[in-house]
Amino acid sequence: MKRRDFILGASTVAATSIINRSSFGNNYPYDVAIIGAGLSGLNAARILEDQGLKIIVIEANGRVGGKLLTTKSLDGNQEIGGTSIGSGYERLIKVIDKYKLKPYSPGKNNPYFGNRAIAMHLNNTLISTRDNWEKSKQNPFPSNLKRQYPWERLRYIVNDLNPLSETTDWYNPLYSKYDISLHKALQGYGLKDDEIRLIAGINPSHGNGAKDISILQYFFSSSWVSDQGKKMDKSKPGVFQILGGNSLIPQHMAASLKGDLILNTKINNLKSYNQGVRLSSESGMKIDAKTVITSIPLTALSNIEIETPIIDHDRLTAINNVGYSKVYLIYFKILRPFWEYDELPLTYWTDTHIGRIFTVPGGDSNPAYIKTWTTGSNTAFLDKMSPSQTAEYILKQLILLRPSLKNAIEPALSWSWQNQTTAGGTYVAWQPGEIKQFANIVAKPIPPLFFAGEYTAKTDRGMEGAMESGERAAAEVINYLG
Ligand SMILES: Cc1cc2nc3c(=O)[nH]c(=O)nc-3n(C[C@H](O)[C@H](O)[C@H](O)COP(=O)(O)OP(=O)(O)OC[C@H]3O[C@@H](n4cnc5c(N)ncnc54)[C@H](O)[C@@H]3O)c2cc1C
Repeated sequence: MKRRDFILGASTVAATSIINRSSFGNNYPYDVAIIGAGLSGLNAARILEDQGLKIIVIEANGRVGGKLLTTKSLDGNQEIGGTSIGSGYERLIKVIDKYKLKPYSPGKNNPYFGNRAIAMHLNNTLISTRDNWEKSKQNPFPSNLKRQYPWERLRYIVNDLNPLSETTDWYNPLYSKYDISLHKALQGYGLKDDEIRLIAGINPSHGNGAKDISILQYFFSSSWVSDQGKKMDKSKPGVFQILGGNSLIPQHMAASLKGDLILNTKINNLKSYNQGVRLSSESGMKIDAKTVITSIPLTALSNIEIETPIIDHDRLTAINNVGYSKVYLIYFKILRPFWEYDELPLTYWTDTHIGRIFTVPGGDSNPAYIKTWTTGSNTAFLDKMSPSQTAEYILKQLILLRPSLKNAIEPALSWSWQNQTTAGGTYVAWQPGEIKQFANIVAKPIPPLFFAGEYTAKTDRGMEGAMESGERAAAEVINYLG
């Protein structure tokens, strides 16, 4: 293994120590090997190390952070993955404060971003204001609710239907009867198919569309959002990002580890070895440890051959089948202030392959990029093309939709989360029936193998869910090792 393959949490000494320990022939140079250096894996590593355990973190990519990814190729620390940090993220905020990272709200003081107007583009028609939507012939909502935008109407109905008394009820078998599709639940609420498509089929935030997502996932999100409201740290903005980029969080977590961290090393096989586990990488590296935590998404776990311990049938089915939400995002650099020509809003919600359109600030807080955000089944069409073809296609669609964009923007970055083999999508999207079947088993340890990662979180979601899962898996390992 070449020295440049190592990027170290602590110091260059750590890299040499991997080579030395392995060549001593010690069966267990490590107490815990952690697969994946996203928030969940790094949080587990931190906690285990604090308990005096010898750890190694193995990461497939050439960087830490996983789905936290601040790109340096664009102006102004643009977030490609996890973006908004809630002031109720207690675990993450402890880490942010520990490393003295600064919260900030991009574009906050710029009047462009103070204007929260949204335009809709539906069935080839521009609906540029809320008043126009209220009067639109395309608005199927009851007369007293016509001012709600489709995404607000969905939130309203989910809140109205939500039966969970506590957030964690989402995986409680007593609530299994609600593990039905969002589509079916909305039908039960009295909505017709075209109304369901409008509020839940276009630009879905979970899954591909209303038929392939469990409404229990929406109930979990809705209850969690209200929990978050009660936990808000008043010293922080309600929702924020990290000055200098969210990636600074995992970078600091990694840098504070005393143990070993290897990058560019993709684990592809795992088997029992004496009382512990032997991990093998694509490049042929072998790592032996008493225990292993996998902190990678199910989609990535399905690419690892687990010879032993024997994985039970239900768990294997979960690993191979549970779905993930999809996001295709494209940044276009703004070349001239197109909004001055048509005076339309900076944000759009469309029923086209473009999905949603945001305008985001650069380092100087002024509008610097248009960011398109395509979700659900529309991503399949975009994923078939090369990144540059997709950007060209979306650019043409954007100009058709908003002529002032002609010669006003140019492609800057295309990114599909589902096309990354180490990610396979954005976050878990439980299909109808899957919560009942799998939510209580995916995190269960099969010692010496333990499971972390956002999909195993029970009380929190997003980044905070990843932190929660790392904390839980670390506690399980500590308990097991005694
Ligand atoms: C587009 C997008 C927007 C989001 N927005 C928000 C938001 O606004 N707020 C919020 O709270 N959350 C948000 N999230 C979710 C949040 O970013 C994730 O929940 C969290 O970062 C997941 O952390 P994790 O450790 O569970 O997984 P990951 O970050 O996926 O980490 C897993 C790591 O394992 C590595 N890996 C995979 N396979 C292997 C292998 N075989 N060998 C070695 N390493 C491997 C991966 O490279 C990765 O680094 C968003 C996510 C995305 C994608």
